[in-house]
Amino acid sequence: MIGGFVFVHLDNGEEKRCKPRGRIREEMYPGDRVVVKEEMVEELLPREDLLMRPKVANVDQVLLVQSLKNPEVNFKLLDRFLILIESLDYSPVIVINKTDLVDEIDPEIDDAINAYKDAGYNVFLTSVKNGTGMIEVKDAISKGITVLAGPSGVGKTALLNTLIPGANLKVGDISKKLKRGTHTTREVRLLKMNSDGWIADTPGFSTLELDGIEAEDLKFYFPEFRKYLSNCKFNNCNHIHEPGCLIKEKVEEGELASSRYKSYKTYFEMLEERGKQY
Ligand code: GDP
Repeated sequence: MIGGFVFVHLDNGEEKRCKPRGRIREEMYPGDRVVVKEEMVEELLPREDLLMRPKVANVDQVLLVQSLKNPEVNFKLLDRFLILIESLDYSPVIVINKTDLVDEIDPEIDDAINAYKDAGYNVFLTSVKNGTGMIEVKDAISKGITVLAGPSGVGKTALLNTLIPGANLKVGDISKKLKRGTHTTREVRLLKMNSDGWIADTPGFSTLELDGIEAEDLKFYFPEFRKYLSNCKFNNCNHIHEPGCLIKEKVEEGELASSRYKSYKTYFEMLEERGKQY
């Protein structure tokens, strides 16, 4: 919203400067679908979802970015992002950037990365610097609205500039706007890719609090667990201490990655501990 106007992308590809009618002005966010007549936004169509920080409506996927080096990939943080994204029902796409900085991926890191592929996630090893994986990433987010997320310094701005030629965001730019705990009044803009896709120019998930998540629900946010859940010995098994638990058995057999299970356990215990405090 600039000076009471919004820019609406019409079905025919045109961009139109419009004025939202009445209360629509306060209720409208980037990503919302609207009905436009002449130069007025007449109606706000029902939205599928609204990401709260930053506020973007109708998000389809989250491009979760990490890097192999400078900074080194942080799997615990990656899992935290994934839990949040799964709980909000967005689809995550994982990007591990800066492959140009390592000659060979450490086998332990490679195993941990493969665990995400085995879990069913789309994982791309990229280098924005030399162009590795850029076509594949573009393809994965070619439709709908994408929000970037990930720690600072991993290459989100560089990636955005590559995905959207002409975006011209300064290196380090989008992370700076991610001021934890403060209110940033700057609005998110959705930038159009060459395809039917849009990317928010501000990274999402400025807070990684797992506030709305109960320990007992955590198992649903690890997609690789899903096919075993209904066959676990106990209906309400949390897959921690229960004897004869199928998930634990699959971890021991190597069917499920121990790195991911360890992460599950850590977050479960953290959420359980938090639950006891109330
Ligand atoms: P952001 O904080 O996630 O937005 O990260 P930036 O895009 O600002 O990038 C942080 C630093 O990493 C900058 O100096 C970039 O030039 C550099 N960088 C980004 N992508 C790559 C890459 O693929 N390889 C290398 N070697 N450096 C990169």
